[in-house]
Amino acid sequence: MSKDWRLLAPFFSQHWKRYVFGIMLLIVVDALQLLIPRLIGQAVDAIAADSSSLTQVLLTLLLIAVIIAGLRYGYRECIMGATRRLEYFLREIVFNHALRLPLEYYDRQGPGALMALLTNDASAVRMTFGLGCILLIDAVFMAALSLAIMGSSINWNLTLLATLPLPVILLVATYMGKAVHQSFRTVQESFSALTDYSQEVFAGFRVIKGFASEETVSHRFAALSQKNMDAGMRSSKVQAAYIPLTHALPLLSYAITLYFGGRLVINGGMTIGDMAAFQGYLGLIIWPVMGLGFLLNTLERGAASLARIANILDVPAVEADECDENCAELLDAGVELRNLTFSYPAAIAPTLSNVSLQVAPGAFVGVVGRTGSGKSTLLKVLLRLYDAPPDSVFIGGREIHGIGFRPLRTAIGYVPQDSLLFSRTIGENIAFDKSYSRREIEEAARLAVVDEDIDEKPQGMETVLGEKGTRLSGGQKQRVAIARALIKNPAILLLDDVFSALDYRTQDSLLSQMKLFLDGRTSIVVSQRVAAVRNADLIVVMDAGRIAEQGTHGELLARQGLYYRLYEQQIVNGDE
Ligand code: ATP
Ligand code: MG
Repeated sequence: MSKDWRLLAPFFSQHWKRYVFGIMLLIVVDALQLLIPRLIGQAVDAIAADSSSLTQVLLTLLLIAVIIAGLRYGYRECIMGATRRLEYFLREIVFNHALRLPLEYYDRQGPGALMALLTNDASAVRMTFGLGCILLIDAVFMAALSLAIMGSSINWNLTLLATLPLPVILLVATYMGKAVHQSFRTVQESFSALTDYSQEVFAGFRVIKGFASEETVSHRFAALSQKNMDAGMRSSKVQAAYIPLTHALPLLSYAITLYFGGRLVINGGMTIGDMAAFQGYLGLIIWPVMGLGFLLNTLERGAASLARIANILDVPAVEADECDENCAELLDAGVELRNLTFSYPAAIAPTLSNVSLQVAPGAFVGVVGRTGSGKSTLLKVLLRLYDAPPDSVFIGGREIHGIGFRPLRTAIGYVPQDSLLFSRTIGENIAFDKSYSRREIEEAARLAVVDEDIDEKPQGMETVLGEKGTRLSGGQKQRVAIARALIKNPAILLLDDVFSALDYRTQDSLLSQMKLFLDGRTSIVVSQRVAAVRNADLIVVMDAGRIAEQGTHGELLARQGLYYRLYEQQIVNGDE
């Protein structure tokens, strides 16, 4: 628990002054507020005695009110401002840590959990230190001092009587406050289920249209929407009970004061002004007491959110920021696998078993194999997106764990099977935040045979893609992703099934362009198409995580094994 709070230390060591200053102002405001009932009491006495001091008291009241208003602005500005920075600080550390988490973490947790940390949890911690802190100080400082003043300067017995209902108010407010909060939560949860579903539907609209599933989708939406409405109605009912009850209970205290205090005034045991002051102090106590339930809730939520944030920060990051001597550039681009056996963390059986392979620098290796045979996994392990066991993967003659991430990923150009383009211009997607010149970007597009497609777009390279922009076809997207890898001028190129969306003519021109580009570079090209790998120096056929066959196109055909069958099939289909 204390460990969780410690993660805020860097923030508070930098920003504590503003925060503490805000709290000091808040205490001054509370202290000034304590003067008000007393002054009202004096005013009432002045009225009763028809004294001329009334104007003076009223002027003092006015002055205090103005000072309080100013200071209130000050403390809200300081405390709320500091907590906005706190939220910014938390988002910053969570986001940057999330960027460095291993891919396994993302396999286990969907993006929703990370999004919740950045939104709900960061703001719950902000609330704890903002509103939570203000309520806490009000409750402790103002309520306690009001009690003391009521007792010492007015009447202890009356104080005791008037505060008798307070424990009941506290219990009801806390218990019902919890129920209200819980009902809010149900509403919120059903609301996010509704928005998540709608978002998925709108994003996958083409599929829904394509399968004519509008009706099913509509039913599902109605069910989710109904759940949200029911939760909303239940919440209204709980609130309908909570609000009148919590507003009525304090009246008990006022009634007791009026009855017993009134008798004291009549007997001459207390002035009417004291009685007015007493009522005022009672008001200062009741609201913080009623807010106590809310306060406890806020603190509880803040602590739970902070614990969730601390939890993710505890997951070790894989990306070491600092570079040691290992960060030297990779000069030799050979790749070697020695008895590589790899399992995904959650998997029961290994995805790659005993894979041994030697790729000389500058060689072109083709990888084929049926779906699920481990081809993509092989490439991911080479990029160290997933960690292979020690001494099984060597790049440039060095064990992969001894190479820094940066030199490794600088040396490798990778085009994943399901490449994603971002909602930015085509040019920015190719350069991908690196400062390449316009000429270099165009050259990469030309190498990836996507230049003509880009020229056809109204704004060329400046065409914005994605949600608010133009859409590209599957094959165009694949080639933009290839251009993004080629522009890095990598020593090693890993292509994962990048020909799948291309027609044969485009595939051929891409292959002949690539031939020039690949000269002198090591390349591993995964494809289902024999045509894409037939010129490779070595073709590897994967089957159920193992290398079933390897050799050149000619050798493998002569073997008449899996590769031969794949080849035959593609001839039959007219693919060759
Ligand atoms: P395809 O030709 O369909 O792309 P592939 O040969 O590239 O197939 P891989 O993506 O390497 O196959 O997957 C190999 C096996 O590993 C599959 O059984 C798959 O379900 C499993 N797998 C892939 N990614 C993960 C992951 N992140 N976590 C757990 N298992 C995975
Ligand atoms: Mg794959």
